[in-house]
Amino acid sequence: MRRTRARPIEIKTPAQLAIMREAGLVVAAALLAVASAAEPGISTAELDAIAEREIRGAGAVPSFQGYLGFPACICTSVNEQIVHGIPSPDVILTAGDLLSVDCGAIVGGWHGDAAVTVAVGAVPPGLAGLLDACERALWHGLAQAAAGRRLTDISHAVESSARASGGYGVVREYVGHGIGTKMHMDPPVPNYGSPGQGPMLTEGMALAVEPMLVLGRPQTRLLDDGWTVVSADGSLSAHFEHTVAITADGPWVLTAPDGGTSGLAAVRGEAGGEAAPQVPAEARSSGGGAYDA
Ligand code: MG
Ligand code: MG
Repeated sequence: MRRTRARPIEIKTPAQLAIMREAGLVVAAALLAVASAAEPGISTAELDAIAEREIRGAGAVPSFQGYLGFPACICTSVNEQIVHGIPSPDVILTAGDLLSVDCGAIVGGWHGDAAVTVAVGAVPPGLAGLLDACERALWHGLAQAAAGRRLTDISHAVESSARASGGYGVVREYVGHGIGTKMHMDPPVPNYGSPGQGPMLTEGMALAVEPMLVLGRPQTRLLDDGWTVVSADGSLSAHFEHTVAITADGPWVLTAPDGGTSGLAAVRGEAGGEAAPQVPAEARSSGGGAYDA
């Protein structure tokens, strides 16, 4: 979509962000439980049950269940499936599968949303690079989630990192989003584009940043189930996501158990890291408030 007019972005108080942190930690725990259980022989429906137990056991609500009619608590997307795969007793994982798990939870009306891609069994040869590239691109984007930056500073950092990692396809047809009292809110957060455009990031905003990379071309196709998004050329894919809050102390990664400390430090330690442009925000182009999304 092309955004031509800025729409208001929900601003959270520190107390509200603290509740979002609780939701984020529930999501992190559920993803860890699912990833740990993703062994050859288990079905994606069994993984969904594990996630539901974790989420409800923590007193939270699985936000995906019933969302626009979605029938499960997590999305499980295997191999060429990029996002929004539906858990099923008929999908039995085998060694060498790539499994993307996307999970959302609500605590006290506030949302957390995160995703991770894991290999089932040992990581197949040649695929470690895809997973590393996608997760690294995510963290480069998260490092830009700071007051005074523009929204597409995140987008540009994600794409630049992905391209620097190799010839991966960067999916453009699905993007990240604002998050808070709803799972999907303004603004859309593209994983590509020029820096310095879109809304100014300010304290109290929260965003879900979620790059999707494929081994081949980035075009996607929707399966007949109306949910599952696959790569059009059938190439394998990865998807990583975190919910991040913009705070006075910088990015606070609400769905990372350590709040993002280690992931952000790794990005800042990389040569050519995008974490510290020294250009004053007001000196950079506003792009007239428009950006491609
Ligand atoms: Mg998600
Ligand atoms: Mg999301």
